[in-house]
Amino acid sequence: MTFADLHLHTYYSDGTYSPAELAARGAQLGFAAMALTDHDSVEGCEAMASACAAAGLEFITGTELTAEQDGHELHLLGYGVDVRNPRLLTEIAQFQDVRQDRIRRMVARLNRLDVPLRAEAVFELANCRSPGRPHVARALVNQGLCPSLDAAFERFLKKNRPAWVPKFKLSAVHAIELIHQAGGLAVMAHPGLNRTDALIPSLIEAGLDGIECFHSRHSSTKTEHYLCLAEQYDLLVTGGSDCHGQSKGKPLLGTVKLPYPYVQLLNARMAVTPDAADRAVNVVASR
Ligand code: AMP
Ligand code: FE
Ligand code: FE
Ligand code: ZN
Repeated sequence: MTFADLHLHTYYSDGTYSPAELAARGAQLGFAAMALTDHDSVEGCEAMASACAAAGLEFITGTELTAEQDGHELHLLGYGVDVRNPRLLTEIAQFQDVRQDRIRRMVARLNRLDVPLRAEAVFELANCRSPGRPHVARALVNQGLCPSLDAAFERFLKKNRPAWVPKFKLSAVHAIELIHQAGGLAVMAHPGLNRTDALIPSLIEAGLDGIECFHSRHSSTKTEHYLCLAEQYDLLVTGGSDCHGQSKGKPLLGTVKLPYPYVQLLNARMAVTPDAADRAVNVVASR
């Protein structure tokens, strides 16, 4: 049996691996296919396409969009999106501006608490268009302003802690439509981590294509539960480790192995979406 990992982050968002490192490690572990799903970004996809080609792996483009529905946060994975789709790039760029603004606001809050961090230090460390709280936490640790990443979140950055600033989220319906118009398929990420089961029927009405049943933080009971839901609603099944590299202790790559037949079903559905031909051309052209 061959396997895939369809939920991965690189240093183009809050992961620590480069695309080349991630692809090489994936090949070492025997994976056949990988998808890159950086938060609110497709910046690393072209580099990941080349790295996977070099490592002999199949690559699926992706992103993980931060969204909300009825006041609940949820993450939507977009698979097979054309990473040069103009509207996707425009809306992602706007999202990234808001993320950068949020960093400035969190740093201003820290400064009011007499923590002398500069926003520029966070941007230099993040070195990507989609910075987030983990970069603030790393900057605090690097500058000796916090003893550990956990401490940075506990003291300052967790929801309702003094430096926390709420995050902008797309409406889930909008995110699904954005993914579709870029030729991709929309999949609900790690449903077991969000209390969003009740939203599934309305998201299906909005065009949701699949559900991430296998995830490093899903118990086997949760996985079974979501496999049943996928069957009941005729949704695609996906899965991945959500590896962020070294940023959260031991790398998660290799802890979730999605059986390859699920990738074949995903590819089959992608092949019938109207923009599939353009997407394939773009990925090949970028190699
Ligand atoms: P952001 O997108 O800026 O809100 O940051 C979200 C990222 O921070 C996700 O990748 C989370 O896994 C990570 N994160 C959230 N809470 C914590 C925590 N308590 N400790 C470490 N990382 C966290
Ligand atoms: Fe993350
Ligand atoms: Fe997520
Ligand atoms: Zn993720």
